[in-house]
Amino acid sequence: METGPEHGEPCGSANGSQPFSSGDQSNVIGGWLRSLTFVLGHMTPQALAKLYETSVCPVCGFQLDFEPWSHDGDCPSFEICPCCGVQFGYTDCAPDVGVAGRVEIYSRLRQAWIDSGMMWWSRRGELVGRNPTVQFERIQNVA
Ligand SMILES: [Zn+2]
Repeated sequence: METGPEHGEPCGSANGSQPFSSGDQSNVIGGWLRSLTFVLGHMTPQALAKLYETSVCPVCGFQLDFEPWSHDGDCPSFEICPCCGVQFGYTDCAPDVGVAGRVEIYSRLRQAWIDSGMMWWSRRGELVGRNPTVQFERIQNVA
């Protein structure tokens, strides 16, 4: 049985293979995601530094147990977010891209994660604390 990425849906009528493609619920989520990705796509470097500082994944908003980068954004941890699979210092890096440019990279990675159904990345970790709604709100509250 395919439960899909979301949890706690009372009606359970969603098509498992297409998480957000049909129905009222998906319109709500779709609109919510669109406005949210717009906001998050315009995150300031200061907001990003704050996410680093509070150990929040800037891609998916998962509460990490490590700081993905140093506060100034200069020193990556090379750790991997168990939720979305981004590796800090690797996946989110490009030559000549500073903290400001990284916001754009996170924006792209976030969209890719959303498009792929916001799945839990890690094979080993348990699915503890994963909730895209809460996670994105966590980012939004900082950004
Ligand atoms: Zn993540």
